[in-house]
Amino acid sequence: MFSLVSPTYCDFCGTKLNVNSNCTRSIITSYGTITCNITYWICPNCKKHFHDNIVGVSGSANYSDEFYNKCLSDTMVDAVFTIPAD
Ligand SMILES: [Zn+2]
Repeated sequence: MFSLVSPTYCDFCGTKLNVNSNCTRSIITSYGTITCNITYWICPNCKKHFHDNIVGVSGSANYSDEFYNKCLSDTMVDAVFTIPAD
């Protein structure tokens, strides 16, 4: 349902990134909760960290944009979202 966009080169110095680690993220959507395998990347030159971006999910949110917008437009839902700090 969602596609991943992997960073390839460092935004800061242009060095090709190395895989640092992998993890699984749960994303809440209006279709249910799905899990995505996310790759974390590290620049071998300046040690900056990057991660895969999920198309349709903002930043490190644990819900999809369409789910968030659906809740915002639904006045019956008093939803509380928390965005985990990186
Ligand atoms: Zn770099």
